[in-house]
Amino acid sequence: MRKTLYIIGLSVAVFSCTSQRNAKKRQYIPKTPSVQPKTTAKTTDEKPKPKVSTEHGVDFFTTNIADATKNDNTASYGSIVSAKPVGYKVVKDYFPAIAQNFRQRYLILHYTALPDDKSITVLTQQAVSAHYLVNNTGDNEIYQLVDENKRAYHAGISAWRTDKNLNDTSIGIEIVNTGYITDASGKRVFAPFDEAQIKKVAALVKDIATRYQIPATNILAHSDIAPTRKQDPGPLFPWKRLYDEYQIGMWYDDAAKQNYYDLAVSTDFPSKYNDSTFIFNVQTQLQKFGYALDLSGKWDDATKKTIEAFQYHFRPQNYDGIMDPETYAILQALVLKYPLK
Ligand SMILES: [Zn+2]
Repeated sequence: MRKTLYIIGLSVAVFSCTSQRNAKKRQYIPKTPSVQPKTTAKTTDEKPKPKVSTEHGVDFFTTNIADATKNDNTASYGSIVSAKPVGYKVVKDYFPAIAQNFRQRYLILHYTALPDDKSITVLTQQAVSAHYLVNNTGDNEIYQLVDENKRAYHAGISAWRTDKNLNDTSIGIEIVNTGYITDASGKRVFAPFDEAQIKKVAALVKDIATRYQIPATNILAHSDIAPTRKQDPGPLFPWKRLYDEYQIGMWYDDAAKQNYYDLAVSTDFPSKYNDSTFIFNVQTQLQKFGYALDLSGKWDDATKKTIEAFQYHFRPQNYDGIMDPETYAILQALVLKYPLK
């Protein structure tokens, strides 16, 4: 497998060099466009043209082309792709629009539920894919399988807050991990992640989230956006550590959690547990936080699975799908800290 990867890598390198050479040949000196006559005297409010550089056959803006104060997530540096209509020249140096942002608004983390070699085969040869694959081979490589500007097929039917079909707007990261087995009592027992993998994931997420200015509320588990279908990356994925050490994703404040916990236990939590009003309130909080859930007023299967998904992410010590006082306190602390804007 390593040999095959090396050969693929070599051919990519050769291709890149060829592309770069061709790109240099095609360079041209931009002229002043006739549609907008310019005065020779420079005014102080004239904006500089955005600079474009070509690296490995791909053009990049090297300065901020838009007004970040008028966009929610326009970053300053990214690849740009232009049409090459036969007989015409597309000019991109003159009129970049302020009204633009990135399509990449979410980061979704997965585990492959397969070992290394099978993960690569499935994610490259079958009807599922991800932008990145974090291997388990102990080296410093991270495989990119899909260009960041293209859709990968990793999320499936999915929703978070006001958004649906998150394949359209997300970058997917698959982590090689064998997933879970079910023990005799029916409990899911998950496989741990290697320390080296966690460091790779953290560095990769940090890089992508920074470039696209992806907010903490949009860095999520597959199980968050498809809680009735998915468990990955599961309760052993260290979300708190990523938050503490790398400032990645969401986590609650302890003081707020403690206040909600005290409130929950002082109001005789168990006695109202099966009241439809209480269940409705729990479902409303889950929905407010981001999960797609019907407000049935019943502990139905979808609600239990959604609570379990929430526990995988935010209360991984016990993921039994039961809304106990601690889980409820954490949920309310998160809703308080990350309100829907
Ligand atoms: Zn997944």
